[in-house]
Amino acid sequence: MTFTQVTTTCPYCSTGCSLNLVIQDGKVIGTAPYYRSPVNEGRICPKGTYCHQFIQNPDRLKKPLIRKGDIFYEADWDAALDLISRRFAAYQPDEMAVLTSARCSNEDNYLAMKFARGVLKTRHIDHCARICHAATMVGLFLAFGCSAMTNSIPDIGESDCIFCLGSNTLEQHPLIGRQIIKARARGARLIYADPRFTPTAVQSDLFIQFYSGSDVLLLNSIMGEIIRNGWEDNSFISERTAKYESVRKVVLQKRYEPEIAGPLCGVTPEIIRTTAEWIGNAERCTVLYAMGITQQTAGVDNVRSIANLMMLTGNMGRPGTGVNALRGQNNVQGACDVGCLPNFFPGYGKVSDGAAHRTLARQWGFPNGICEPREGYDINTLFERLKGNSPEIKAMYLIGENPVVSEPDPAAVKEGLSNLEFLVVQDIFFTETCQHADVVLPAACWAEKEGTQTNTERRVQRIRKAIPPPGDAKPDTEIICALAAKMGFAEQFTYTDTRDIFNELCTVIPQYRGMTWDRVSKPEGICWPCPEPNHPGTPILYTDRFSHPDGKGVFYPVDWKEPSDLPDKKYPLRLTTGRLIWHWQSGTMTRRCKNLTDEVNEGYLEMNPTDAESLKVRSGDLIKVSFRRGSLLCKARVVRDIKKGTTFMPFHFIERATGNLPEDSPDSLPRMSEYKVAAISIEKIQDAEP
Ligand code: SF4
Repeated sequence: MTFTQVTTTCPYCSTGCSLNLVIQDGKVIGTAPYYRSPVNEGRICPKGTYCHQFIQNPDRLKKPLIRKGDIFYEADWDAALDLISRRFAAYQPDEMAVLTSARCSNEDNYLAMKFARGVLKTRHIDHCARICHAATMVGLFLAFGCSAMTNSIPDIGESDCIFCLGSNTLEQHPLIGRQIIKARARGARLIYADPRFTPTAVQSDLFIQFYSGSDVLLLNSIMGEIIRNGWEDNSFISERTAKYESVRKVVLQKRYEPEIAGPLCGVTPEIIRTTAEWIGNAERCTVLYAMGITQQTAGVDNVRSIANLMMLTGNMGRPGTGVNALRGQNNVQGACDVGCLPNFFPGYGKVSDGAAHRTLARQWGFPNGICEPREGYDINTLFERLKGNSPEIKAMYLIGENPVVSEPDPAAVKEGLSNLEFLVVQDIFFTETCQHADVVLPAACWAEKEGTQTNTERRVQRIRKAIPPPGDAKPDTEIICALAAKMGFAEQFTYTDTRDIFNELCTVIPQYRGMTWDRVSKPEGICWPCPEPNHPGTPILYTDRFSHPDGKGVFYPVDWKEPSDLPDKKYPLRLTTGRLIWHWQSGTMTRRCKNLTDEVNEGYLEMNPTDAESLKVRSGDLIKVSFRRGSLLCKARVVRDIKKGTTFMPFHFIERATGNLPEDSPDSLPRMSEYKVAAISIEKIQDAEP
């Protein structure tokens, strides 16, 4: 029996663990450790362990499909691409939009972006970062002049004090959680803020069981206490930052004193004082945060408050410090870097900047230019523009996106998609969104193609082809190049291989300019910025200056505002949402992995025993969860680990889609919807089955 192994990077979370895929007789039959990556040193979590199980699932798309009436018919590539090219050619640029995916590689996303802006000439391109870390992009840009995790994953293990909020790290990013455990073994303290007593809370030295939505209140109160005790870093503030006084004034207001802010956060004043003391006196403090912070309408405020706290205490630009935004999907950082955003070109040049626009148009060599030099629509706006009888957007190309499950209002997304005149969906499975398509294109999955992806710490790493794609499925890059050629742009989309595409994207992304295929193929990859060929990469940002032109970090005063959808008499409980260790995003991949579905395969609502008792609900009972815009049915789980008055639901299950629960009131700056704070009521429908 002969086995071979191919080293690649995990397709799920943004930790970017390396692992080996084990191949026998042309099939991937398992995974094995790969010890040489500094990210995970051979360890992987359950999702990584079983990531091979969806690759050969019989549901994989194997042929292009063309809709006729209500039925999809198999077609060959030529017919499918002919149809798409003819239909796209009939629309004006502003009538078309392209959505890409943080699941796809850098090369896939880069070519999709080049196709949108160069071939379709549309400004409307976005991807799923909008629903996870758009607030990070905006907030960190404003504070530091660049939007990315500031330190590396191994560097977390160097910290003396880890403040983790809005991130159940041990479940969401288990191999980053391992660095927390390493730091604690060295004597570091973990302060953990969450409404739930999660596996991360188990590791904590101080647990802040606060109300979701009170993040700024908590952070301002901590900062006020640090300043009152003289624990701020005055030399860092004066030499490295600007506008400190405005923040000082806000956080010293009476409303943020621990006696007043504590009860509003749901914690004692002592908890706030201890947190301030530990952070204020730590030699090296780091903040880890994730979607608990960003998936709120106050997401940008939350991010800016975290940046304020770390600048206040001088915890920037050194080992074991920093603002460490733990991104969601495997390649959300890379999809942003390569410019799949309506306001940024590759490398974060503004689309409205004439010089950046001219440079890109010249580098790409499109004879009639590229899209207009102004911002396009983000995902939320796109679906708004799909409403009504004559929607502004008429055709869409979705690559690896499943908005019917992932967007905040699935009913509105379905209505919007059905209003389109022409929809192309490119994916590995026939997703819920494919039901609305005119053409479905079968794509290769990550194990069937070469490429790179950029993890949450800005580390560019390789994915490698282990087996060929099933049937007629093709890598996204090949599909996009073939379609571009059909539309008359073969010259701009001729590449010898994936390495050639990577070389091109390195020439247009300043942060990647010094990278080569061979360099990123090494076990340690390279963290950007890597501006020159001999540059070693940059695991820690802002060691001597921030990215703003004057090199300063910018404080910003943030006053706490109550979340818009707070409990009241009719809807007396809070709902928050999140991930389970067993599943990933909309479940398209993990729900096709038997070992993971054997653990959990349906949605549920967690509630506190006191709340459950007052409603006469027991674990396993069928309950109706009502919110301001609708309701759903699910089973109850009564657990002691959740704060009284708060409930929790995992968001991986379409039949229990939590995406549609919260009020859809996008944050005005990054257009982020409210996923983490919603008011609900609960009614028991049926007793648990005996
Ligand atoms: Fe994959 Fe993330 Fe688990 Fe690592 S921690 S194995 S990247 S899911």
